[in-house]
Amino acid sequence: MIVLTEIDLYTPRQVIPAAALLIEGDKIVACGTMAEVRIPAEVQAFALPGKKVFPGFIDVHTHGLLGQDAFGHSLAEVIQSLPRFGVTAFLATTVTLPMAEIYTRLREMAAVLENPPSGANCLGIHLEGPHLSPKRPGSATAKWFHPLTQEEFESLQEAAGGKIRMITFAPEEGDALRLIPYLLEQGVIPVIGHSDASYELVAEAVSLGLAHATHTFNAMNPFHHRAPGVIGAVLAFPQITAQLIADGYHVHPGAMRALLNAKRPLGICLVSDSAPFAALPNGEYQWEGYRLLIEGETCHLPDGTLAGAHALLDTGFRNLIHLASLTPSQAATCAAEVPARALRMERGKGRLQPGFDADVIVMDDAYQVVMTIVEGKVLWRRE
Ligand SMILES: [Zn+2]
Repeated sequence: MIVLTEIDLYTPRQVIPAAALLIEGDKIVACGTMAEVRIPAEVQAFALPGKKVFPGFIDVHTHGLLGQDAFGHSLAEVIQSLPRFGVTAFLATTVTLPMAEIYTRLREMAAVLENPPSGANCLGIHLEGPHLSPKRPGSATAKWFHPLTQEEFESLQEAAGGKIRMITFAPEEGDALRLIPYLLEQGVIPVIGHSDASYELVAEAVSLGLAHATHTFNAMNPFHHRAPGVIGAVLAFPQITAQLIADGYHVHPGAMRALLNAKRPLGICLVSDSAPFAALPNGEYQWEGYRLLIEGETCHLPDGTLAGAHALLDTGFRNLIHLASLTPSQAATCAAEVPARALRMERGKGRLQPGFDADVIVMDDAYQVVMTIVEGKVLWRRE
């Protein structure tokens, strides 16, 4: 058993000062004020006076970090590296490559997930491409794009050992729209992204069960008041949870605030969209045949196109507080509770409450991660 004491505890609806959190096995068994929580004698105790304790962050959109690509065998290293950034669970996200290469990489990921190393909990694969709109490629290579079909999805899912949990696609391409109910039946979350769809088409997708949008504002047709497009639909439909990259570069802080005002924190799923070169020093790197430049806090192609983020989810969390004026509790909602709900795991992850998985992070006054606990195991501590 583990107990954290003298902490500021951030539960979904309140902050409890001078609190304790008790973990047994992989679950939270008690939390509350020091007076309320009965601390057994045989327990590993961490006294953390004044430290802030949040639910572990869940990143449904990360491509890797520190030179490690989540798309392939180095997923194993990604799993080991994420806890120091406060990420306790994530979806390993793919990119568009030639199909033969995609199949190879999915098999490599499935092999890692058969027997994952200790680290953040990889909850599955997020397939981002090649079923995207050539009109909205972002930094991806449009010549490899084609519409999603059921046959191709089945063979990709087979290569992935059934681990594909989320798919970002352009529903307006080919007959992809009508696959939404099929994907939901398969337990796969359909997500609109890299899309040029009209508002009307997204409305139809919502009626079929679409409820999630990939990196809102990025790789989507822009909002116009007579042609609201994908962004207009994301803003208009409360059913849609909006992924937001809050690195401060992909989305202007003003657009972040506008989105937050429209959707409220419970409608925002904070993602990093971190590139495999996230968190590395400035310089020039090679990735999947691309020349990639890291300058300041951005990761981009030589022409300036952003190629994934340099920041991880802990930076996004701080930016929601400092750039978008959310309270720490609201920011934690976006970084943990909403992604858990998007993955239909809201009954077991994403909150600090008894019975939930013991995915816990401890932060200092500057909201820097000092300790990360994944399913009851202390996996990272700042020296
Ligand atoms: Zn993307």
